[in-house]
Amino acid sequence: MGLVLAVYQISLLPERILKKICISKDGCWNWMGGDTGKGHGKVKWEGHYVVIHRIVYKLLESEELPDELPLDHLCRNRRCCNPHHLEPVTHKVNTHRGHACLFKPLPQPKGKSAKEIADES
Ligand SMILES: [Zn+2]
Repeated sequence: MGLVLAVYQISLLPERILKKICISKDGCWNWMGGDTGKGHGKVKWEGHYVVIHRIVYKLLESEELPDELPLDHLCRNRRCCNPHHLEPVTHKVNTHRGHACLFKPLPQPKGKSAKEIADES
């Protein structure tokens, strides 16, 4: 991969996905389409509904993302599908991080929430 790919080519995404991503000031790629009911964006992909951040990660970063490996949102924004904000982690690490948040609250993202942007448009 290397440094050259440190900036992801958002334009490489299929247009139907690209159209529904709204980039906030803090760099989150907020999914403006449907969601899973748990806050994660979802999209119909190859006949199934799947969470959008996994699709974007697979398309731009690594096609070999194992299905059982969760992607952790480093930005804590479940609607975000920016591969820079995603990190594949084991369930153990993911759970550990969740607990860590109880003791150390993460700052709120500075940009507008996806809902605010949705309400404005
Ligand atoms: Zn993000």
